[in-house]
Amino acid sequence: MKTPLIQSKKLSDLNCCNVWLKMESSNVTGSFKERSIGHACAQYAQQGAKKFISSSGGNAGVSVAYMGNQLQIPVIIVVPKTTSQTAIDLMRKENAEVIVHGDSWLEANDLALSYVSSDNIYIHPFDHPYLWDGVSQMIKEVLDAGVTPDAVVLSVGGGSLLSGVQQGLTTHGLKIPIYAVETEGTASLNTAIQKKQHIKLDEVTGIATTLAAKQVCKNAFDISQQENIVGLTVSDKEALQACFEFLNDHRTLVEPACGATLSVLYDKKLSFSATSNVLVIVCGGASVTLNQLLNYAKDLSLNQ
Ligand SMILES: *Cc1c(COP(=O)(O)O)cnc(C)c1O
Repeated sequence: MKTPLIQSKKLSDLNCCNVWLKMESSNVTGSFKERSIGHACAQYAQQGAKKFISSSGGNAGVSVAYMGNQLQIPVIIVVPKTTSQTAIDLMRKENAEVIVHGDSWLEANDLALSYVSSDNIYIHPFDHPYLWDGVSQMIKEVLDAGVTPDAVVLSVGGGSLLSGVQQGLTTHGLKIPIYAVETEGTASLNTAIQKKQHIKLDEVTGIATTLAAKQVCKNAFDISQQENIVGLTVSDKEALQACFEFLNDHRTLVEPACGATLSVLYDKKLSFSATSNVLVIVCGGASVTLNQLLNYAKDLSLNQ
């Protein structure tokens, strides 16, 4: 689906440049996953997939459920016991079979993998070229709208968003900085950039659960070794504060995973020239409610 591209007056004024918001939060399932997962599911459907298998309790799982329903292909999603009822309800509303199994994602994923066959296709949440192809369309839409970006700011979990955006920029001959943002507790890419190694973190922590991949995909790591990629980390508190500011300024509720990127602009962590077009990927997220954000604010002593 084509998403809106809008200029943020507030963030443009704050950062003394043109800040453009690619509103991936406007997708039916509330995040950019509809592009990545959507494209992958469409490709596999064409190749005769009989069933989709997923183990994501977050936005990826919700998008697999939605796409399966659209394509009339049955979906099985195995999620760990820690998965929120909100997410399970969203998946079941799309007629997915949801199996709650195991205390961690690893156990849920093992069961999910046992269902995979040549007809039953596993949809990876972030590590497959189909996903990146789907995401790369975003850049074409931005250019078609008449905006040529001078920089991109986006969040990184497992790295499909970064992979797809870099691919889209390369396709159109744009070599511009990409600011790759994580929270301090989920800094698998930023740590890999520092160490110049494709590391795996021992643990991931904090409220940006959607960014909590212990290791980014190999493609994202390889991209991060190029000089146009600039890593940034922000605190949970900064990410959360940005969610509230964005809700007030743009009337859109996003996850802390997306707030992380927005906080870079709200907190003026970068400086751009006055004529620069800065493209901010508002990756969105449907896994939190306003009440949850308010509870996080209480836990982090953030005054709201
Ligand atoms: C999946 C997701 C991310 C992280 O994307 P990756 O491709 O895993 O890096 C960030 N924000 C939201 C809202 C997401 O759904």
